[in-house]
Amino acid sequence: MNKPASGRDLPVLRAGEQDPGHLTILYRGPLSSCDYDCPYCPFAKRRDGTEQLRRDRTALERFAGWAAGRDHPLSVLFTPWGEGLVRSWYRRAMVELSHLPHVRRVAIQTNFSCRPDWLAEADLDTLALWVTYHPGQVAYGRFLARCRDLAGRGVRFSVGVVGLPEHLEQARRLRDDLPAEVYLWVNAAEGHLYTDEEAADWTRIDRLFPYSRTPHRSAGRPCRTGDTVISVDGEGTVRRCHFVPAVLGNLYDGTFRPEARPCPAALCDCHIGYVHLEQTGLYDVFAGGILERIPHLT
Ligand code: SF4
Ligand code: SF4
Repeated sequence: MNKPASGRDLPVLRAGEQDPGHLTILYRGPLSSCDYDCPYCPFAKRRDGTEQLRRDRTALERFAGWAAGRDHPLSVLFTPWGEGLVRSWYRRAMVELSHLPHVRRVAIQTNFSCRPDWLAEADLDTLALWVTYHPGQVAYGRFLARCRDLAGRGVRFSVGVVGLPEHLEQARRLRDDLPAEVYLWVNAAEGHLYTDEEAADWTRIDRLFPYSRTPHRSAGRPCRTGDTVISVDGEGTVRRCHFVPAVLGNLYDGTFRPEARPCPAALCDCHIGYVHLEQTGLYDVFAGGILERIPHLT
């Protein structure tokens, strides 16, 4: 782990068993632009015009205001289509949420191309980062220096790469160069079938790679989403997760009611989904760091 578990860490992460009323929200607003241009980007990247950015900012500020007003424990993972931290409103929302006593964790998926100064204003017991390294978009030395800077600041963060063959050497090098306590995860590349030999290469870098290697059969299986974990978009529309389109209500008009429901999809192949699928047992593996993807013991 990046730093010792604080008093806020552990109770969050047992599906509310030790923290009654706790809700985890995966928030994804309209923002879809990114300062990188990865060839494997799974999202339909766009240039956000002024109006789109204004919409995203308004939506995020509305969500942050709603979160601030809750009387129950909350954890938030921002999962933008594009890069959030190059926008001031994401940095500000993360700082503000990190200081609220009922917010157990606020984290974001990011390429962390932004400057790190703003982190000095945050409560680092609550804020965390899910950082992805994109070889080809940033010089290796620059990225490594950024990670070392984060570690020096005492920021909780994981680092990861997409498991494409052309990333293997860079991933090995990064694993060797990162502080040992920083977890380096590897995501199986979408649509890529790994031979046992290839999978072994990646597993030597990330011992948890086997969870990512093949999609999880999830149909009819218990999954915490829709109950203690939800996905929310910029309009406040609630879905159980980012992968099941059925609408469960709206966050702002009180029409969402949490309810345990089995997964309706055949497969779940994304970490931000299957980490909540009970059969994976990943709440124990990542206890204390589910949203920022930091295992309990690295
Ligand atoms: S950093 Fe992420 S969002 Fe941006 S282009 Fe790369 S994969 Fe897409
Ligand atoms: S298992 Fe995955 S796809 Fe199914 S409900 Fe849970 S997060 Fe969604």
